[in-house]
Amino acid sequence: MNSSLIGKIEKAHRYAQERDRFAFSELRVVVRGDNDAHEVTLRDGRWHCPCDFFAGWGTCSHTMAVEHLLEGMVPEGGMATAGAS
Ligand SMILES: [Zn+2]
Repeated sequence: MNSSLIGKIEKAHRYAQERDRFAFSELRVVVRGDNDAHEVTLRDGRWHCPCDFFAGWGTCSHTMAVEHLLEGMVPEGGMATAGAS
């Protein structure tokens, strides 16, 4: 294999260990809940989920699950604000 490509692969492995290098600015992910699948999106720093709970609370188990999964790489959503109010 080309030695410069090997260098890039090694660097990629190192980067992948350092979560603070990553900041998702936009995201679309389908979360398979117990009852239904929901498409959670992150756009302009704001979370959205089409489920009923999110409509009332601005947060839900689906967005919280994705936040937890990507902790440190995505903006904090309703979890923080729900605790503060
Ligand atoms: Zn939801």
